[in-house]
Amino acid sequence: MSSEKIYDIAIIGAGIVGLATAYQLSKKRGLRVLILETEKEIADHQTGNNSGVIHSGLYYKPGSLKAQNCVNGRNAMYIFCENNEIAHERCGKLVVATTAAEKKMLSVLEQRGHKNGLNGLKMLSAEQMREYEPHVRGVAALHVPETGIVDYKDVARAMSWHIRNRGFDLLTETRFIGLQEEKSGALVLETNNGEYRAANIINCAGLYSDRVARACGLHPGVRIIPFRGEYYELKPEREKLINNLIYPVPNPRFPFLGVHFTRMIHGGVEAGPNAVLAFKREGYHKNDFELKDTLEIFVYPGFWVLALKYGLYGLGEFYRSFSKKAFVSALRKLVPEIEAADVKPAGAGVRAQALGPGGKLIDDFYFVDAPRQIHVLNAPSPAATASLSIGATIAEKALEQFSF
Ligand SMILES: Cc1cc2nc3c(=O)[nH]c(=O)nc-3n(C[C@H](O)[C@H](O)[C@H](O)COP(=O)(O)OP(=O)(O)OC[C@H]3O[C@@H](n4cnc5c(N)ncnc54)[C@H](O)[C@@H]3O)c2cc1C
Repeated sequence: MSSEKIYDIAIIGAGIVGLATAYQLSKKRGLRVLILETEKEIADHQTGNNSGVIHSGLYYKPGSLKAQNCVNGRNAMYIFCENNEIAHERCGKLVVATTAAEKKMLSVLEQRGHKNGLNGLKMLSAEQMREYEPHVRGVAALHVPETGIVDYKDVARAMSWHIRNRGFDLLTETRFIGLQEEKSGALVLETNNGEYRAANIINCAGLYSDRVARACGLHPGVRIIPFRGEYYELKPEREKLINNLIYPVPNPRFPFLGVHFTRMIHGGVEAGPNAVLAFKREGYHKNDFELKDTLEIFVYPGFWVLALKYGLYGLGEFYRSFSKKAFVSALRKLVPEIEAADVKPAGAGVRAQALGPGGKLIDDFYFVDAPRQIHVLNAPSPAATASLSIGATIAEKALEQFSF
């Protein structure tokens, strides 16, 4: 299938960032927008395989795009869920310190939370925390009441309903391959499913966003490194050990939050995710391997700087990936009653993490502009929470930059 129609904007990728961008653009009347998605279903990758947490904005550096968009996006997400009758709960979470050193870091987090505009943060003693979570152990905890849970696939479906309803075209099973420019000035998007024309493009391709940028003639300046996050789930008879969400104090030297307990909106309690280097961009299973993806990691100089920096941590995560005992021992630090027999393997998600050539993991959301192009090259957690705010930022940028 091809189309002679010239769209004002083509968005590549129907994960929550691409969909939220389209949703925000759809508020402007008369725009012709096309969304291309490789998979048969929308939100099949990061958006559909995450922890389902509506993050509060506690962790992020004040003033960063993550902090601003998480707080604004979280509020917008609660309103969107209410307006669209999407199951969600503002259930709150505990961040639990298990040592005196972690307790100090908890105070730093609390201050950060205040700077980011969070409401209702409460420092709890060991006794007080057990009023919220009777089975948790630690020396202190921070209660974060604004955290919630949702299924982001439900959110993505609602966004796509609005987008289609307002006349935008969303094509699944249509993978963007390359970009040409016609004499008329129109951009021609080559796909596995024919050619499409647009005046401008927005790249929201998640795990493939750097490759899509390269296919558009850009040097993205970063490489996407896939980190798999594996989950276990609690057996139904042990779910009573967890009321809501229980997180460890994150180690500030490492980029991920550490394995935690999450009650899911449609039932069940998950434990995880860890963070293991994946040898395939969409490598959801331990043995998944793709030569091209692996070579791209290993020939990238930044990867070796990263490997030296996080060597032991990375090995620990690999160990936890293959050893249930090691995984459970990380969980037992928070809830000592958990036994290996209480959990069984669940699914996994793969994070698209941008890495700079100097080995720096890009912490904040990261956009690169080119004439008639906007590329989203880093949208890791909390981008699902923040999606409506990120989408509004990109839509605003697009309307200005593309002169609409
Ligand atoms: C394990 C895990 C846990 C997480 N937990 C949370 C959480 O609890 N809360 C939170 O806020 N965030 C969480 N996140 C982060 C969040 O899920 C992501 O930040 C967010 O989903 C990113 O959305 P996206 O649209 O950029 O990417 P994706 O959802 O990956 O979407 C990108 C889309 O682009 C499509 N695509 C790629 N290449 C092409 C192409 N060439 N042509 C057409 N389409 C293409 C893909 O098929 C995909 O559908 C988590 C992430 C992971 C992996």
